[in-house]
Formats: sequence, structure tokens, C-alpha cells
Amino acid sequence: METADRSDAPVIVVLDGPAGTGKSTVSREIAARLGLSFLDTGAMYRAMTYWLLQNGVDVDDAEAVALASAKPVVRSGTDAAGPTITVDGVDVSGPIRGTEVTSAVSAVSAVPEVRARMVELQRHSAEEAPVGIVAEGRDLGTVVFPGAVLKVFLTASAGIRATRRAAQLGVTEPTGVAEILADIERRDAADSGRAASPLAKAADAVEVDTTLMTPEEVITRIIGLVRERAAVPAS
Ligand code: C5P
Repeated sequence: METADRSDAPVIVVLDGPAGTGKSTVSREIAARLGLSFLDTGAMYRAMTYWLLQNGVDVDDAEAVALASAKPVVRSGTDAAGPTITVDGVDVSGPIRGTEVTSAVSAVSAVPEVRARMVELQRHSAEEAPVGIVAEGRDLGTVVFPGAVLKVFLTASAGIRATRRAAQLGVTEPTGVAEILADIERRDAADSGRAASPLAKAADAVEVDTTLMTPEEVITRIIGLVRERAAVPAS
């Protein structure tokens, strides 16, 4: 493993992009290889959504969501070797990947009060990182970490993103893949169209289209970009 050196400010690398571009897999691997912490901000919005659903809050009622979102304590463990996500001390890493949460998360993440809470926690995680952090999400380059040393915007065709998600979930039948594609397109539209911190490419982000790339190719490309900008020793 290579180790990055935190001489003054933390090394902050952000990867934004829509669902299924491979953000989580490549971000975590880049963090592990560079000795940086890892933050999956989507998991935080999912954890909040899970808690709201468990507690009977109507996720389409923005006022109720805003009010209730002050109650749960969402915590992300940022060790790239074993990231964790808990709500009120309970591990929710499994249930937050379920279809119920996936269908509801865009409505919850569009509520400004929810975003304000999550952004505060995300910045805190970066401050606490011993060396630096690789964080992935939707608004990290535009809103959360505008001063990040490297901003990457990952894209891929909707079709390939649905195929990748289906493979991750073990879905093989064409109707299942079509449902995943419809869900991805619905979330893309909701995440890009919302008023509060929409999914968007920062003006100074590097766009990487992963449609025809393997995860290893994406990882190598991004580590190369990090090296150009931060004090990361050669392997
Ligand atoms: O990345 P993932 O698919 O787990 O993200 C789940 C949802 O969380 C997204 O569809 C989006 O609504 C929300 N999200 C967000 N801002 C982030 C990360 C995720 O709004 N920084």
C-alpha cells in the first residue's frame, strides 16, 4: 500500500456521478491503495431514509422529513478496509441497500434540512481523517468540498449502469434488468432536477466516462490524476 502524506490540509478527493457508474467500488479501492479514508455519502442518505421509513415518517412529506431528520444519529466509519454505517448505533449496512430504501431515498435527499445535516457530518469526517479522504456522492465537488484537490465526475451510459447494478444484485432475468434501468433513470432525473444541491459536474471536475472501462482502468486513471495534484509517494 502507498501512503499519502498529510503535510498541512487533508488530501480531499471527490467522485460524483449518477447511480451505477462504479463510484463506490473505485473510490474505496483508491482510498485503500493511497492510505486514505473513504466516505460513501449515498450510504448516509440511505441510512436516514431507512430510519424515517422504520419510524413511519411519510417520505413524500418534506416538512415531516425535515422535522424528523434531526432525531437519528447517523455515523459513518471511514476505514477503507471496512467502512461502516450505523443509525443510533445499529448497523444498517444491509437494509439500506433494499428496494424500499432505494425507491424513497431521492425524495429524502431533496429536503434541504436533511442535506444540511449530512453535509456537516461529511465535512467532519474529512477533518477527522488522519491523512485525507476519498469521498463519493452527487454534490461533493459543487457544494460539500469545493476546495477538493481532485474532483472527478464519473459517467456511463444508463444501459451499462443498469447491467452493472443487476450483476451486483444477482438479477439476471430481462424484466428485472429493465426495472433496475427504470429505477436508475427515475433517480437520475430526481437527483439532477431537485432544487437543493442537484447532481452536477463541478466546473473544475475531470469527467471520466466509464462505459468502456474496467474498474482497474478507472482506478489507475484516477490515481494518476491524484498524483499530479497531491503529495502521494510513487509506488
Ligand atoms: O450513491 P447511492 O446510489 O447510494 O445514493 C443514494 C441516493 O442518495 C442518491 O440517489 C441521491 O438521491 C442521494 N445522494 C445525494 N447526495 C449525495 C449522495 C447521495 O443526494 N452526495
